[in-house]
Amino acid sequence: MLSLESFFPRTKLGFFPSPIHRCERLSRELGVSVYAKRDDVSSGLAYGGNKVRKLEWLAADAIAQGCDTLVSIGGVQSNHTRQVTAVAAVLGLNAYTVQETWAEWEDPVYDKVGNILLTRIMGGHPILAGYGYSTTAKDTWENAMEAVRAKGGKPYAIPAGASDHPLGGLGYANFADEVAAQEKEMGVFFDTIVVATCTGSTQAGMVVGFAHQDKKRRIIGIDTADDAAMTRRAVSKIAHSTVEQIRAKGGHATDIKDSDIEINADFSAPGYGLPSESTIAAIRKAAELEAMITDPVYEGKSMDGLIQLALRKDIPAGANVLYVHLGGAPAVNAYYKAFEDKSNLTTLAKAARYEE
Ligand code: PLP
Repeated sequence: MLSLESFFPRTKLGFFPSPIHRCERLSRELGVSVYAKRDDVSSGLAYGGNKVRKLEWLAADAIAQGCDTLVSIGGVQSNHTRQVTAVAAVLGLNAYTVQETWAEWEDPVYDKVGNILLTRIMGGHPILAGYGYSTTAKDTWENAMEAVRAKGGKPYAIPAGASDHPLGGLGYANFADEVAAQEKEMGVFFDTIVVATCTGSTQAGMVVGFAHQDKKRRIIGIDTADDAAMTRRAVSKIAHSTVEQIRAKGGHATDIKDSDIEINADFSAPGYGLPSESTIAAIRKAAELEAMITDPVYEGKSMDGLIQLALRKDIPAGANVLYVHLGGAPAVNAYYKAFEDKSNLTTLAKAARYEE
């Protein structure tokens, strides 16, 4: 156990531990035992998701520094900026969120519904500017921070996905302790974890947390950035810096090896924020079998990965798989076209690689 709360302040924002339940029908279909850990329902904050778990540690830091405005960045349909705005709302802070065009998804309501609508309802300040997915610091984000300062505010900078930040990996490192406690209670061991990965701190935190436990397991990061090399660099950087942060505070953490980081690039095409026919088929499958709603940007791709890796026996029969659901369902509104047209749907279903 890392016991991070002994070393780092945390502002509790979520309903943790998030529930784990067995997916009976999906398990039968795939021939492996599938459980879902529901970080998508782990908070009351505007539909939650994985950022709430990360932001618990950053919010404590923002408050300690006396900041009054959270400033972050994401895509137009960013789940992250919606959750940053939610956290700002409950803590009585302001939120400025740069919302860049990261995906060329043709839809007249793309910048009006789903995540960005929720951000607006919560009194956030989405700034629609900038172009292109990248986790590096952007001028658009710097400009937003400058604008806050110019108004006499004190900004707290939260990078894309709350990832490339000294505290970004803590939430999911702590998640590993949470899973171990739930396993003990449930009398199971999850030998395989399937998780969507993009800006990196979710997988990086998990890698750090699980590496520190006695029993080893396989963590499969399903790339959603459609740039597996970039995703690997991000995960690796954050994992190593999280280990350093923990040690700097007097905690213990195990060194991370390259082989601890598994990233599968098979399910990210045709691009960040763009679903393939296979993504859409996976979303339908999880919804039809388990009433579990996944989205075309992230969880639909990790669900596609889970389904296909199990059917290919890359995840062997008899495995105990924990599918970590990181949220993202509000985005489905902005992707209704992918589910709408009947002839299109037939084509999608036929093209799905694992369709019966
Ligand atoms: N799943 C959802 C729903 C997300 O919003 C994100 C955010 O980017 C991810 C997965 C990927 O997590 P990370 O960016 O920490 O790699």
